[in-house]
Formats: sequence, C-alpha cells, structure tokens
Amino acid sequence: MPCSLWPPIKKEEYKGVWVYLEREGDRLKDVGLELLGKARDLAQKLGGAEVGGVIVAGTEEMAREAIYHGADKVVIIDNPELKIYTPKEYAEAIATVVQKYKPEIFLIGATKRGRELAAYIANTLTTGITADCTALEIDPKTRDLMQIRPTFGGTQLATIKTPQRRPQMASVRPGVFPKPPRDTNRTGEIIIEKVEVTRKTRLISVEKRLEKDVADLPPVESADVVVAGGRGLGSADGFKLLIELAKLLGGTVGASLMAVRAGWAPHTRQIGQTGKTIRPRLYIAVGISGAIQHLMGILEAKTIVAINPDPHAPIMENADYAVVGDYKQIIPLLIEEIKRL
Ligand code: FAD
Repeated sequence: MPCSLWPPIKKEEYKGVWVYLEREGDRLKDVGLELLGKARDLAQKLGGAEVGGVIVAGTEEMAREAIYHGADKVVIIDNPELKIYTPKEYAEAIATVVQKYKPEIFLIGATKRGRELAAYIANTLTTGITADCTALEIDPKTRDLMQIRPTFGGTQLATIKTPQRRPQMASVRPGVFPKPPRDTNRTGEIIIEKVEVTRKTRLISVEKRLEKDVADLPPVESADVVVAGGRGLGSADGFKLLIELAKLLGGTVGASLMAVRAGWAPHTRQIGQTGKTIRPRLYIAVGISGAIQHLMGILEAKTIVAINPDPHAPIMENADYAVVGDYKQIIPLLIEEIKRL
C-alpha cells in the first residue's frame, strides 16, 4: 500500500537500471561490477533499457572500469567533501542524482555501507527497499522488479515488489551474481555532476582496531581460499593461527557471527546470511558448528573442510573433508606440513 503522505509519482518518467558503485580506496568494489552484470540482464528483459552507474567522489578511470563491465552511462558525483564516507551526506548526494536521472530500478551492494546507505536513500526518495536479495527478475506480466530474498531464517524465499513507487530499490549481497567479463571495447558516457550536500556529520577520526590484523589479507568475497573461525576458537588468539594458515595458503580469513560478536574478528569478515556470500575454491571452517545462517554464505564454495571435535556438528555433514579434533592440535600440524612442502 502506498503511503498517502508520499508525493505522487509518474511511473512512466522512470527508465533504465542503475547501480551504486561503491569505492574501496582507489578502485571500485567487485559487488558494484557484479550488479552491473545483473543490471544488463534486467535491462535486456525490459526491452533494452539503459544501464547506469553512480560513483561518489570517484575518478574517470573508475567510471571507465564500470563501462567495461556493462554500464552505458556513469555519473561521478564531484564534491571534494565526499572523499571520506559519511552516510547521510552520501545518501543525500546519491538521492539527488537518482532524482535527476530517474532510473526505474536502483541496485546497491549489501555491504556494511551499502546497507546503511540503501535505507537512507529509499527514505529520501520515498520508495521501498528490499534488503539482501539473492535473486532479481522481471515480472513478465507487469514488468515490475521481483526482489527475491530468503526469509524465516533462510527456510523460505520471499518475492517482494514495489508496484506503486519508483525507483524499485534492492540491495544484493556481494558474490551473489558473477562479475561480468571486462570488455575494453565497450564505450559509454561519463558525466561529472557537482552535487552540494547539507553537512550533518563531521568525521573526527577513524579507528580500525580489528581490521589492522587482517589489513594485508584480501577480502573474503574475492579470495580463492578462506580459513574461517567460529566460537570454538575460544579466544582472539585462535585467529592468529588461522591468519598464519591463510597466508601460507595464499588465502584470507573469515568468521562466523559468533566470532565477530565476541570481538575476535571484524564485521567485514563475517560469512553467512547477515554477512558475506563467498565462492572460494577451498573453505576451511574451524570451530564453526555450521548453523543454516552460516551455511547460506558458503553454498558456492567448491571444497569444504571442517575441523571440529563434534562429529555430529552440522558443518561436518556439509563438509567434503571432516576432521574430528581440537583445532589447537590440528592447525599447528597443518602449518608445519605446509611449511615443509
Ligand atoms: P557455535 O554454534 O557455538 O559453534 C562452535 C563450534 O565450535 C561447535 O560446533 C564446537 O563443537 C566447535 N568447537 C569447540 N571447541 C573446538 C575446538 N577446540 N576446535 C574446533 N572446534 C571446536 N551466523 C553466521 O555465522 N553468519 C551469519 O551471517 C549469521 N546470520 C544470522 C542471522 C540470523 C537472523 C540469525 C537468527 C542467526 C544468524 N547467525 C549467523 C547465527 C547462527 O545461527 C549461529 O548462531 C552461528 O553461526 C554460530 O556460530 P559458531 O558456529 O561460531 O558457534
């Protein structure tokens, strides 16, 4: 039901499928590029609609990268004050661009920042948002976006539509859609938009306590090998062992929600329903029981190894190799063996 206080809109004015392209330092995050691939698919189903991208305080090089991955048009929001992320100002700037270009569909990567921004943007645009979608389709009859996401603890899939409002907004977890191939022959339009914002927050300092330990390791969503720890590690020290093993295997470290809650690993490393979806070649679960919400993040892992003293833990049933035992004995042996190779 549309809210009667919301301003009326003309649906026919909204065209195209646009994506928010989140920056990470001097590059674009993979999730934005993955969404460009899906946006092309949706645009095709809408009869060849335009695919657009929005970057806040980005560079033309980033915009070109987006074009190589499927964008027809990229808007760079040019405002030096937005070099550092603050949610309200970013949301205001992005909403201004969306209001100007009026895409029919606007997609955002469900990263920590993306989730935060999506809610602010949807509120500013007086439209709905479906968070954490795992599939997106076009309803062949109504041409509405079908926003599909797990519900009831992952046991069911809900299909949500926003038939009355535009744009139709969805956030999608990293790793859900494949990144389209990079085609340097693709061409597109790059537009620089100067957007002013009302400053409501001022950043005083950034503290990256837990991030420091894993700063030199790749993010979980792009690593080929992920060694993840859970509550069974017993302490933050357990993670040091996992970091050593991950480095030897040329991979990275991940964590269960319980390990993140215990303060042993940063939130950016959480795998599962409310964390990251990953598709590594090798996943090693250490001290993780394998709750359904965790398993949902590793469905696409090629080989799963579990280390757990409980042979009946659900992760053991889902593993290709189940090692029954205490990680404190097994991981040092594994490290020793790998070093010997
Ligand atoms: P536990 O379930 O406590 O398991 C610890 C395991 O360690 C046990 O199997 C134990 O046998 C083993 N162990 C103990 N000692 C050792 C040892 N010495 N060596 C090796 N193993 C040992 N969870 C996520 O992970 N990701 C999510 O995104 C997520 N989202 C959620 C969303 C919702 C809405 C809800 C309700 C829950 C969510 N959860 C999520 C939580 C999930 O349900 C579980 O509670 C959580 O995954 C359990 O974490 P764990 O496996 O680390 O801990």
